Amino acid sequence: MKSLVKAKAEKGIWLQDTPKPEVGHNDLLIKIRKTAICGTDMHIYNWDEWSQNTIPVPMVVGHEYVGEVVEMGQEVRGFEIGDRVSGEGHITCGHCRNCRAGRRHLCRNTTGVGVNRPGAFAEYLTIPAFNAFKIPDNISDELASIFDPFGNAVHTALSFDLVGEDVLITGAGPIGIMAAAVARHVGARHVVITDINPYRLELAKKMGATRTVDVSKESLNDVMKELKMSEGFDVGLEMSGVPVAFREMLDVMNHGGKVAMLGIPPSDVAVDWNQIIFKGLVIKGIYGREMFETWYKMASLLQSGLDLSPIITHEFAIDDFQQGFDKMGSGESGKVILNW
Ligand code: NAD
Ligand code: ZN
Repeated sequence: MKSLVKAKAEKGIWLQDTPKPEVGHNDLLIKIRKTAICGTDMHIYNWDEWSQNTIPVPMVVGHEYVGEVVEMGQEVRGFEIGDRVSGEGHITCGHCRNCRAGRRHLCRNTTGVGVNRPGAFAEYLTIPAFNAFKIPDNISDELASIFDPFGNAVHTALSFDLVGEDVLITGAGPIGIMAAAVARHVGARHVVITDINPYRLELAKKMGATRTVDVSKESLNDVMKELKMSEGFDVGLEMSGVPVAFREMLDVMNHGGKVAMLGIPPSDVAVDWNQIIFKGLVIKGIYGREMFETWYKMASLLQSGLDLSPIITHEFAIDDFQQGFDKMGSGESGKVILNW
C-alpha cells in the first residue's frame, strides 16, 4: 500500500510502498480517506531533536484521519464494516491505575499512532477498536479528519467554566484558533487571542476571537484598557509553547484565575512564581483528549452549530504531499488536508 514514511534520519518524508498492516483480534482495519498534517508531523518532517530521540526510522507517520472500517478482528463488538471512523491516537495500556479508573488520558504507558507505532498516512491503518470513534452522518469527512487536534482544543477549552468569563488564548496556531471558536460558542465574553503571525490572527478573528493581539506590535495591558477589563482574565489557555507568551499570560490573569496549558515549551521555562502564588492561580496541564468524553463533546459541539470549517484552508492529493508540508511549514495556513 501507499504510505508516507519517515524513511531516513534526515529532513523530509517519502511516499513509499509498505505492507498492509495485520489485523489483531481486537483491532479494526481502516481504509483511510483523508488525513491532516499536525505540528508533530512537521517536527518529524524537519527531523528536530525531539524526533531524533523519539521516532524509530523507518516509520509510517500521521495520526489525524478519517476512514472507513473494512475489516474487524474476531473479538470486536460495537462496530460494523462500512462505519466511518476517526480515532484516538493515544493507545493506552488498560492495566495501570488510571486506565482501570476510566481516566485513560492519564495512562502512564501511552504510545502514539504515527509516533511509536505505524500511523495513518497510509492507505490502511489498524488500531484497537477501543480507540476508534464513529463519526455521526452530519459531520463532514473534512472535519472528521481533524478530530484529533480539535480534541486538544476542546479538552483544553472545556477544562474550566467559560460562561460569561474573559478568556485569554496565547498562540493562534490551528489548535488555539479552534479553542477560540469553542470558547465563543459556549458563551465566553471576551475571547482575546495572541500571536505574532498576522495570517493566523486574521483566521482567528474569522472564527470567533473577539479581539486579536499581535504581541510584537501591541501590549496586552493596553488591550485590557481598551476592553475596560480593570481586573484581568478569568481563564487562560496557553497554546503556543512559547515561554514569553506564558509569562505574559501570568501577568494579566486576575486573582483566582485558571490556566490550562497545552503548548509544549522547548525546554525548562522560568516564571515569576509570585504571580502564581499571590494570585492563587490554578494551573492544569493538558495532554491529548479525554477518552472518550472529549470525543462526544466534539461531535455535539459541531451538531449544536459550532462552525469550524474555516480552519481547513488547504487540501492536496496525496501525490502532492510535498506541497502540503511546504504550506504547513510556511505558517500561512490553518489545517492542511491530504486526500488518499
Ligand atoms: P503551532 O505551532 O501551529 O502554534 C503555535 C503558535 O504560537 C504559532 O502560530 C506561533 O506563531 C505562535 N507564537 C509564537 N510566538 C508567540 C508569542 N510570543 N505569543 C503568542 N503566540 C506566539 O501549534 P499547534 O499545532 O496549534 O499546537 C499548539 C501547541 O500545543 C504547540 O506547542 C504544540 O506542540 C502543543 N500540543 C500539545 C498537545 C498536548 O497533548 N499537550 C497536543 C498537540 C499540540
Ligand atoms: Zn494505562
